[in-house]
Amino acid sequence: MHLPEFILYNSYLLMLNRRSFLTTTAAGLAAATAHAAEGKPNVILIYADDLGYGDLGCYGGKIATPHLDRMAREGMRFTNFLSANPVCSPSRAALLTGRYPTRAGVPRVLFPQDQVGLPDSEVTIAQLLKPLGYKTMCIGKWHLGHLPKYLPTNRGFDEYYGIPYSNDMIPPVVLHATPGKVETVEERATLETLTPRYTEQALQFIEANKGGPFFLYMPHTYPHIPLAASPRFKGKSPHGIYGDVLQELDWSVGEILTALKKHNLEKNTLVLFSSDNGPWFMGSPGHLRGRKGTTYEGGVREPFLARMPGKIPAGKVCHGVASTMDILPTVVKLCGSSPSNPVDGIDIWPLLSGQKQELEREALLYFDNLYLQCARKGKYKLHVARYNSAVYSPAPASGRVNLPLPAPELYDLSNDPDESYDIAPENPEIVKDFEGRIERLMRGFPEQIRKAHAETFAKQTTGSTAAHPRLK
Ligand code: MG
Repeated sequence: MHLPEFILYNSYLLMLNRRSFLTTTAAGLAAATAHAAEGKPNVILIYADDLGYGDLGCYGGKIATPHLDRMAREGMRFTNFLSANPVCSPSRAALLTGRYPTRAGVPRVLFPQDQVGLPDSEVTIAQLLKPLGYKTMCIGKWHLGHLPKYLPTNRGFDEYYGIPYSNDMIPPVVLHATPGKVETVEERATLETLTPRYTEQALQFIEANKGGPFFLYMPHTYPHIPLAASPRFKGKSPHGIYGDVLQELDWSVGEILTALKKHNLEKNTLVLFSSDNGPWFMGSPGHLRGRKGTTYEGGVREPFLARMPGKIPAGKVCHGVASTMDILPTVVKLCGSSPSNPVDGIDIWPLLSGQKQELEREALLYFDNLYLQCARKGKYKLHVARYNSAVYSPAPASGRVNLPLPAPELYDLSNDPDESYDIAPENPEIVKDFEGRIERLMRGFPEQIRKAHAETFAKQTTGSTAAHPRLK
């Protein structure tokens, strides 16, 4: 394209953008008015922290979770729901933006000394729902930047209550924020009473906004360590403090479902439940391999329950692949709008409504920090890279480095969910197809991510090629 042509083209884009902005704004206002009359759906998104795929009763777990089990009976339970990352901050970035955390600018866990957070260029679910007339609140662990400019109240939420990062980060301060105002509730959180206090905040918010519409995002602090339960639950579970904490979370979900019934909001409220990543030191990944911090399924596959009586069929199990990145496009469309940034997730309402059991979609990528490690399409998953040591364990003297595998590993998750039997040698065409997709998809990521990917594959493999059993 010659220079004048380029300038013209960009002026044209600018004009289109301005026009579409004006049209969108006008349409948004009209839609908001129309929906207010129709009764736009309320949305409650409950997000546990470090909960394993195998922890809940309805997923075969040992700990009694009657309220979550009831939610599964009254709604839909997913068996292939993937977090976009195996650790806390990036998985939340993906949940709230519908984009890979490596695209959304939060590829790693944030710490209290960090001066950064979710970039302003990202748009959250709350920011998309606000112009439609939604009241919004975030209760719990934010973990997308703790400085005032990064708090939920600057990202589309009217109110925030909770610890802005993990409860093992010092000091675990409890904040209450409204736009332009941040108060410290506790310099050092009383961890035992967090879940009941979060629940009380949620019940007050629901009651105050029962006229709707509202969006409640409730990212719980637990079962991330250090674990603590209130006297009502402490010591009551036969599965130690983890069991106590999970039973209190389960109770909290029950309180919310009861409040919806009390206010006659059940049919008009979509309730979603999941977790950010797999279990850490305690908790069960079920039959899956790996835990928090790995891209094996145990690190990223999560329980996912969805309930909206009359809209989501009761007692159904969905085996189709879905991702935390699907929540934004699905919820925003249901509420009458559409994403403003390009998103990596898709609208999974055809699954939730029971119209379809599986959706055609591009391969889902699994990143650890900046690095692509695996890809999933349908029942197959290909591993191409891995760190040279496990996370949270002593690193080799040379440092912890992401390295290419001696040869890609292919697993059929439909009959090998624990990723134990590599079938790459027998399926070279599937491996080749995955490699082509990875190469093509990676071209669309920011330069830092493409560079990290190229640097990984310029390195020597995780082990001696000569010693690799497949290559002898
Ligand atoms: Mg977590």
